[in-house]
Amino acid sequence: MRFVSGLQPTGTLHLGNYLGAVRQWVTLQDEGECVFILADLHAITVDADPARLVASVREMTAALLAAGIDPARSILFNHSRVPAHPELAWILSCTARMGWLNRMSQFKEISGKNREGASVGLYAYPMLQAADILLYRATHVPVGRDQKQHVELGRDVAAKFNADFGVQLFTLPEALVAEETGQIMSLRNGNARMSKSDPSDMSRINLTDDDDLIVQKIRKAKTDAEPLPDNVDALTNRPEALNLVRLHAALSGRASDQVLEEFAGQGFGTFKPVLAELMVEALRPIRQRIEQLREEPAHLDSILAQGAERAAAEAGPMLEGAYEAVGLGR
Ligand code: AMP
Repeated sequence: MRFVSGLQPTGTLHLGNYLGAVRQWVTLQDEGECVFILADLHAITVDADPARLVASVREMTAALLAAGIDPARSILFNHSRVPAHPELAWILSCTARMGWLNRMSQFKEISGKNREGASVGLYAYPMLQAADILLYRATHVPVGRDQKQHVELGRDVAAKFNADFGVQLFTLPEALVAEETGQIMSLRNGNARMSKSDPSDMSRINLTDDDDLIVQKIRKAKTDAEPLPDNVDALTNRPEALNLVRLHAALSGRASDQVLEEFAGQGFGTFKPVLAELMVEALRPIRQRIEQLREEPAHLDSILAQGAERAAAEAGPMLEGAYEAVGLGR
């Protein structure tokens, strides 16, 4: 099995990224070969910030290493260093259809009412993501639920390319979405995803937040006045409560129903301090490692450079295969 996934190196990792994606990546390293990509070319599709980009790539590298990504086993790199990515993205853009991209919810969500003013890169980005995945023959793509549609698009593009050119070049990838943690919600609004683009920092837990800040954010997290029920189905119309229960379950390694068995009949005054404590204990070691790794920029750069070298060696023949298929073999 080959697992390939990526994230955008802007801001820092939040708990949604961690529980929805990165924590799975760490365990998948024991199950197959892994390629993890810092999508820095994605980061320039909106509000490019040249002064911060290199620092953001390093910061995200530190966060991934701190969370448990092992560069000795997995390939970790930023994709701007491997030109095969934008090259294959172009070729794939000629296979994908406008109608397919027009259906992408993420573009609609991010561009909002400003669709005409959005960059072409933001619109076409799923092609670059498809290239990220297809270059490394991914069988599985571990992502949060919001990315499932993009992975399925990559699969459709791969199938059409293989069929159009009569080749068996691309492996058709499958999205791997964690059932309970595939969509962690904002702490301020149980109907919105936890996201780094939310203007309120109180809406998310960052992996760099200190203990006191985590406690404060959980204390202030939006909830309701009802006590907790004894099963998760009873939380269907209580999205904030469901989110907190899921966070507890994810951090304590239990199912949400088991958590509710323990807290049934109790209010958030009891539940929140327990959740906060659990979170503080889980995130503290990661934060401490991030702080250490930040002091070692040369080490981080060298990991990325080695990762890019290994990635380029794998991506090269795949890209050549694509050029050959379309009649541009060299
Ligand atoms: P991004 O930060 O958008 O590059 O996302 C990196 C990874 O984290 C992707 O696999 C996303 O699907 C996942 N992710 C982002 N936000 C959340 C969330 N709120 N809950 C679960 N997974 C998420």
